[in-house]
Amino acid sequence: MSLLPDLNANEDETSYYADKTWVQCESPRCLKWRLVPKGDEAVAELDHDKSWRCHMNPDPLFSHCNIPQGPFPNNSQFKEHGLKVVYFLLPVGSLVLVKGCNWPWWPAILSPDPNVEEYVRLDSEGYVEHYHVEFLGKPHTRYWAAAKHVELYHTSSTKPKYRNMRGAMRKSYEVAMEEVAKVREMGCEERLQISHFQPQELLFQAQRLMHAIERMLRQCSNQQDNQGKVETFRF
Ligand SMILES: [Zn+2]
Repeated sequence: MSLLPDLNANEDETSYYADKTWVQCESPRCLKWRLVPKGDEAVAELDHDKSWRCHMNPDPLFSHCNIPQGPFPNNSQFKEHGLKVVYFLLPVGSLVLVKGCNWPWWPAILSPDPNVEEYVRLDSEGYVEHYHVEFLGKPHTRYWAAAKHVELYHTSSTKPKYRNMRGAMRKSYEVAMEEVAKVREMGCEERLQISHFQPQELLFQAQRLMHAIERMLRQCSNQQDNQGKVETFRF
């Protein structure tokens, strides 16, 4: 279970946050933070070693994983209080939204980088720093994104301003959303199988290259043999 210390952003919000604690849902498909009243019986039993999920929330307005997350303190508020946001490790194959530089929030799948076969980079303290993401759309592209720019995809997620998109970006976004409709119901494993950047594909490419080199070497040595025969014949 993940708990956050109390954060009182400003005077107005003090009463709202008073006697409440942020708790994170541990369902890998959810991971939303819920503000839970401390005085409640259910919360009095909060145990750091036990898992906690939205349905355990005594607040019925936020007691289901399908309910969007309420207002959550942003990064600057955390920094003000000398706290660091620790990003929970999202499972490989997760459908996520990613904010790349100069691009709107875009749907993507967490997939292993085919060159290193890893999908996550940790910082020196062991916290998630970057995820390898495969952007949906046309064409699929890949990128190492900062963890703070990656969030699990859910329908209430920040949507890019579609009407502001033009040309190739608009087309790619349409394709990406069609893909989202298909992959949303899939499990993580299944999503990885449709990844366009399969480590196996690189292996096949390497094997094909090796065969081509072997063929060339054989042709060269055959030519040399033939030349050798001609020369032998001459002598
Ligand atoms: Zn949940």
